[in-house]
Amino acid sequence: MLYLCTMEKCKNIAVLGATGSIGRQTLDIIRRSGGAYRATVLAAGRKVDDLIALASEFRPALAVIADEAAYPRLREALAPLGIETAAGDDALVDAVAREDVDMALTATVGYSGLAPTIAAIRAGKDIALANKETLVVAGALIDELLKASPSKIYPVDSEHSAIYQCLRGESPENVRRLIITASGGPFRTWTREQMVTATVADALHHPNWNMGAKITIDSATMMNKAFEIIEARWLFGVGADRISAVVHPQSIVHSMVEFADGAIKAQLGTPDMRLPIAYALGCTRRDDYDLPRLTLEQMSQLTFLAPDTEKFPALNLAYHALEKGGNTACVINAANEIGVAAFLEGRIAFPQIYETIMSTLARVHYIINPNYDDYVATNAESRRIAAECIKNSR
Ligand code: MG
Repeated sequence: MLYLCTMEKCKNIAVLGATGSIGRQTLDIIRRSGGAYRATVLAAGRKVDDLIALASEFRPALAVIADEAAYPRLREALAPLGIETAAGDDALVDAVAREDVDMALTATVGYSGLAPTIAAIRAGKDIALANKETLVVAGALIDELLKASPSKIYPVDSEHSAIYQCLRGESPENVRRLIITASGGPFRTWTREQMVTATVADALHHPNWNMGAKITIDSATMMNKAFEIIEARWLFGVGADRISAVVHPQSIVHSMVEFADGAIKAQLGTPDMRLPIAYALGCTRRDDYDLPRLTLEQMSQLTFLAPDTEKFPALNLAYHALEKGGNTACVINAANEIGVAAFLEGRIAFPQIYETIMSTLARVHYIINPNYDDYVATNAESRRIAAECIKNSR
């Protein structure tokens, strides 16, 4: 069920992960919105100088830095501008629940998105969800919390924004299949042998999308697509057996929905994250931000092929996680975060990211019905075990 927001007043946005790729593109939409949106909270992880620069331009009521060591610098720079400042993970949780926040855009990286998203739901705020790991880690819990809250989630992930758009005006019982498109990442045409020697630079060279490092590596392993299958299951309430991925190297068709009569609806657009961001901020309103438009005549071909799960075994982890349920996806996410960080630091080879996940999965104890504290414990335990697996493999 979708509701349109009323836009009589300026809408106040808390931008979490403001200095990252999605955060900056969100601020570009806010900049172009002519006052329809205001960034009342800007939050970042560690990039304090970038946060100071953005706060100086956007003049939020509050700026938050997760890294407490960077707090004095933030306070010193922003106090003269009359901008309130705070630091630490708890400050982020408090920030989203503020009176002067209408919507939280969650673009932090990884597990760190979970606590503020839960806080936003508890406070009844709408959410523009860019942090897919929140639904990967604790989809069942978020689903429960949403049932007892007026909050609505608007997906920012381009694939999920596409599916959301395709589903509008359709009856749930007519939905046969969600088809999530994948670019295939930088290693689509590489062999398994070549991938063993892939460098960080190779993996960061995404063919179509310009994104942060973590998600770009997730695209290279196709873990990102596995996460998107899990995200789709919780966002749209469609079982894993009715969600498939198809490789579409041009990244023009952002995803599709097949219906009972055999019709397939697709959403197309340029690979520009500002489109799904604007759609989410506007709660499905279609505003013109004068962004580059898609010219179909310039496209000689759109191609689709089945994903190669021999080469990209991470994709199958989505189905494993959804079938097994419990804390399985939380383990996968934590081990993946540790594996990706180790690969980015040059400590492990590319295929070892997947191997780290599998070794960790085999060792963390399974919890069938996790509560919030169980997710916190699972995340900590999985990270510790993943780090051990990496240490032992060298
Ligand atoms: Mg995506």
